[in-house]
Amino acid sequence: MTISNQKGGVGKTTTTVNLAAALAKSGARVLVIDLDPQGNASTALGAEHREETPSVYDVIVGDKAMADVVQKSPEFDTLFCVPATIHLAGAEIELVSLVAREQRLRRALDIFLDAQEIPFHYVFIDCPPSLGLLTINAFVAAREVLIPIQCEYYALEGLSQLLKNIQLIEQHLNPELRVSTILLTMFDQRTNLAQEVASEVREHFPQQTLKTVIPRSVRISEAPSYGQSVIEYDEMSSGSLAYLEAAAEIGHRGIRREVATNGS
Ligand code: ADP
Ligand code: MG
Repeated sequence: MTISNQKGGVGKTTTTVNLAAALAKSGARVLVIDLDPQGNASTALGAEHREETPSVYDVIVGDKAMADVVQKSPEFDTLFCVPATIHLAGAEIELVSLVAREQRLRRALDIFLDAQEIPFHYVFIDCPPSLGLLTINAFVAAREVLIPIQCEYYALEGLSQLLKNIQLIEQHLNPELRVSTILLTMFDQRTNLAQEVASEVREHFPQQTLKTVIPRSVRISEAPSYGQSVIEYDEMSSGSLAYLEAAAEIGHRGIRREVATNGS
């Protein structure tokens, strides 16, 4: 599942890290691929990502195996991170001249996943805030897109552009791809605006929008500086509970889908 929205600061990284931690806490094996040169997901997961650290850059632009760059989270035994370093900032340009430039992540990920003795239940890809080749690599590697939407001004701005791009990828590069999940983030229930944004999103995406909304919470924004998810940092805080609940919804949907497929 790729977490995408070309707007910056909407909660992509926060959602990636905390959903991954919440699912890992429930025993799932979870892989997070940090595809943002800023490396915020790597930081929040306590993964090393200094300039010389082997990273997703070496996998996508170089020929390193994903198995050689993946790190285990210090927080949960079943949570793993493919870190991003500052080198990734040049990748958009370097990728242009490479063969199969849209498929590099998918190929590396497929090889990695096929070689696992115990399979991963979830793979999350944290996207940069742009619709360039890195994000395209994420769309090609994923089956599902999760779009976090910040319940504030201009929340829906750019959304139709994003959906159009996803549709193009589906038509030309990855027929499996679909927007499965929308998560409302930074929700402040005291404001009418947040309520309005929420109901507008639910109207447009009744199936995809999770019932759980993520409240605006200081604990959520504090956790990354300790290299922790909010679940580890302050488990009983409103933000932690919300991400645990959102993860449970996602887990539950996964199971129901499996049951439905097996039954038919
Ligand atoms: P993106 O990855 O889309 O750029 P981030 O996840 O990095 O967005 O979030 C942007 C900023 O907002 C970060 O400083 C983060 O800590 C903060 N933030 C995200 N979600 C919340 C929330 N629910 N409550 C409070 N602060 C949040
Ligand atoms: Mg981010």
